[in-house]
Order: sequence, then C-alpha cells, then structure tokens
Amino acid sequence: MELTEIREALGPDLPAFRARQLYDALYRGQAEELVQISTLPAALRAELAGQHRVGQPEIARRYESADGTRRYLLRLEDGRTVETVRMPEGERDTLCISSQVGCPVDCKFCMTALLGLERNLTAGEIVGQVLVVCRDNGLRQEGGRLNIVMMGQGEPLLNLANVLKATRLLSDPAGFGLSPRRITLSTAGIIPKIEEMGREAVRPKLAISLNASTEEMRQELMPITRKYHLKDLLAACKAYPLRPWEKLTFEYVLLKGVNDSDADARRVVRLLANLNAKVNLIALNPGPEIPFDTPAPERVASFQRIVRRATPCFVRKPRGLDIFAACGQLKRSG
Ligand code: SAH
Repeated sequence: MELTEIREALGPDLPAFRARQLYDALYRGQAEELVQISTLPAALRAELAGQHRVGQPEIARRYESADGTRRYLLRLEDGRTVETVRMPEGERDTLCISSQVGCPVDCKFCMTALLGLERNLTAGEIVGQVLVVCRDNGLRQEGGRLNIVMMGQGEPLLNLANVLKATRLLSDPAGFGLSPRRITLSTAGIIPKIEEMGREAVRPKLAISLNASTEEMRQELMPITRKYHLKDLLAACKAYPLRPWEKLTFEYVLLKGVNDSDADARRVVRLLANLNAKVNLIALNPGPEIPFDTPAPERVASFQRIVRRATPCFVRKPRGLDIFAACGQLKRSG
C-alpha cells in the first residue's frame, strides 16, 4: 500500500510532519515494525500498527560463502521467493538485488533463465530487499560505502516503472538517502527502455550486457537480441545522455572457445570505439545446466590486454561461487 493512501485514510487532522516522520523512520531509519517508531505519538503508532504492517520480505534462508558473500532467499507476501546477494569488500559493501521473480530473457549461459518469468517485483519489494539485507548485516547507507547493483534475477528494464520508483525511494535524500551514483542497473539491451530511462531525472547508472562481438553470436547467446539489434543498441548508447560523472559499463561474459578469442577482443574495441565506456569482463560462472566452459585465466588476461589498450577494462572477481551467488547463478537453489 502507498504511504500517501495511508495518510489520506488517517484524515485531514494528521499534520504533514507526522507523515514525514513515518517515511523517515521506514526508509532512513530502516524500521522493521510500526510500534518501534518512537518519533510518532503512542496513539498514532497503535492506530497504524492495528491496521498495517511494514511488510518487508522475510528471510527464508541465508547461504554463507567462504569469501564472505551472503546469498539470501527472501520470501515475498505471495509466498514466492527471490534472491539478493551481499558482497563485502574491505570497507565497502555491494548489494545485488533482483527486479523480477525469475527472468524472461533466456540467455543461454545464465541459470536464472531456466526459471522463466514468474512476475515483476513491486517497487516496495525492490526496496524491501535492500532494507532487509542492510538490517541483517548492520549496514548503513551513510558514509559512501554502500553500492547497489540491479543485477540479480530479472531484466530490470522490463520492469522499468517499478525499478525507477525504487531508485527514487532509495536515493531520496529525505528517505534512504543513497546517491544515485551508487546504484547501477544492468540490462540485456532493451533499446526503447534505455531511451526511456535516459529521460528520467533520477536514474541509476547504466550497464549493458554485450556478451558477444558480432550480431550473429549475440543473437545465438541472447535470443532476446534478435529483436534488439546490436547496431541499434550501440546507436542508443551513443545517444544516451550520460551525466558528467558517468560512463557506460559494458559487461562481457567470456565463454571458452565461443566468444573469448583475441579477434573477439579486437571487435569489441571497434564496437565501443566512439563511446565513453568501460568494460567488465566476467569469466563464465559455471552451472550444472549450462553448456559452456570457463576460459583459462591466461585467455581472460589476453582478452583484457587487448581491450584495455582502447577502453578501461576490468575482470570481475567471482563472488560466492561456492553458494551459487555469483553472476548467472541465481536460481533459488536449496
Ligand atoms: N538481465 C540483466 C541483469 C542480469 S545482470 C542483464 O542481462 O544485464 C547479470 C550479469 O551476469 C549480466 O551481465 C550477464 O551477462 C552475466 N551473466 C549471466 N550468466 C552468467 C554466468 N553464468 N557467468 C558469468 N556471468 C554471467
């Protein structure tokens, strides 16, 4: 339910600052229960608690990796479950959150594809993942140490309205208060939605799953790109209104003997030549149903060396491989 509806139901006598206090306690204060909100008068607290619940996802299971990563299986109100991952790295923390239950995109190297799409998450469920996992780990949004990546289950641009609303809630200085520079969304390349997102005042940073150096290979690996062609994607990237501090990120999953040759690397350089971009390479994280292999570290290094001559290029370190928490491994396994 929307807070504005609750406010209206409480009637015109409720001062506006009470509504602000409620919003502040829920988002900035990460309150779990309405009765805990001590800034509100007891009578109002009791009235609210009698009719409403905070309604955040419930932690169904927690999986702990040897590298400190935690994967959460979160149960939603309708009993469905979704995954969220917390990755500590020194002083910093990154939360990888989901935008849909399952995913409709069907990339051939990703285990989430095997789930298919069950449904979109609401904005409340997207923000709820952040609040629940922050609370469980004692994480605070202040201090510039928290990053959020919308790279969990789902294709965020196929749930854009809710993703944008969640971004506004997470980045509202009067609410959760995380800088939009610390929120990144990754897409398989839904071109009209990239254009739509570019028109928004408050929006996450944009990352694009490139994953191949030719149109043919990309269509084979990511069937959805038969509809959204590489040439048009690159044109949309060129036209995308980057903010002064922003670069486009291109992700590239390396599959042994498929898209990981030096010739592929040189083609990637040519594709991105006119863009203000950086590249994140991801050596395939394997899964039982995935018909590809991980390239050897030397192959990854050689690919990186070639791309790096033209564009900043990093290799993403796999996190939580032992608990199926890494990129492409989210499948709600037990
Ligand atoms: N649907 C969005 C969000 C998912 S982000 C998207 O496609 O961008 C997940 C990232 O992990 C994508 O860049 C994807 O290409 C990558 N990925 C998927 N499966 C993977 C796997 N098995 N190993 C490594 N990376 C993978």
